[in-house]
Amino acid sequence: MPGTLQGRVAVVTGASSGIGRATAETLAGEGANVALLARRRERLEALAEEINGGNGGKAAVYETDVTDRKALEQVADRVQGDLGRADLLVNNAGVMLLSPFADGKHEEWRQMVDVNLTAVFDTTDVFLGQLRDGGGDIINISSVAGIKAIENSSVYNATKFGVTGWSEALRMELAEESVRVTTVEPGVVLTELPDHISDPDSEAGIREIEKSAEPIQAEDIASIILYAASRPANICLNEIVVRPTKQKL
Ligand code: NDP
Repeated sequence: MPGTLQGRVAVVTGASSGIGRATAETLAGEGANVALLARRRERLEALAEEINGGNGGKAAVYETDVTDRKALEQVADRVQGDLGRADLLVNNAGVMLLSPFADGKHEEWRQMVDVNLTAVFDTTDVFLGQLRDGGGDIINISSVAGIKAIENSSVYNATKFGVTGWSEALRMELAEESVRVTTVEPGVVLTELPDHISDPDSEAGIREIEKSAEPIQAEDIASIILYAASRPANICLNEIVVRPTKQKL
């Protein structure tokens, strides 16, 4: 039986781990051909091999640093040549380098703004022509941190509030062109995201929530992304907040 995404071409940023990896697998499992973007090529190749050995859509690897605008422009052209017109973009790549603002970790702030915000604008921009040429979906992975301020999360909050606001404005801008824009705001999901936090207290805080809240799995977010992308064309899920049941914050 053909999958619900047969004939579609999906671009997933941050496909080398966590939510992005699970999303690429899930979308391909429903028949989409998937462009896998991230920096760790060997992980993308292992995932592509797995997808290409299955019964779903095909996968192609694009080793990309999403903060490199020129590289993104080239990738957009290559994706169209290799897989066809991209009609589903999942802006997922992100970093969460939590610390007290007063600690002044300038380089980490800059990295979060570059990856979580500026790269989302650039990735959307380079694929926008393909998306508008017949319609499609832009699914932006924000966070509960995009709707709720959290202590010691100021710059991460700033980037995710930015994604949430930009995403909703973009939805209105593209509504009449049959491009749906969906913002997904997950609570704690079990991935390697906190492994990169350099501030021990901030990392410990996340580990505590992970222990107490029975975190969501990456595959659960992937299934929500699939649900949004597979609705009838006249229905757009605008904003989806999804927390573990036991997560209060
Ligand atoms: P992971 O750390 O597992 O995945 C992050 C992904 O982003 C990796 O594939 C990584 O690939 C990619 N990435 C980071 N920097 C770059 C870069 N410069 N260029 C290209 N790719 C990059 O975390 P998650 O799966 O949890 O995170 C995915 C998204 O979900 C993020 O936007 C995060 O903010 C959001 N989120 C996560 C939550 C959670 O609890 N886990 C909760 C709410 C939102 P590589 O290193 O190979 O480049």
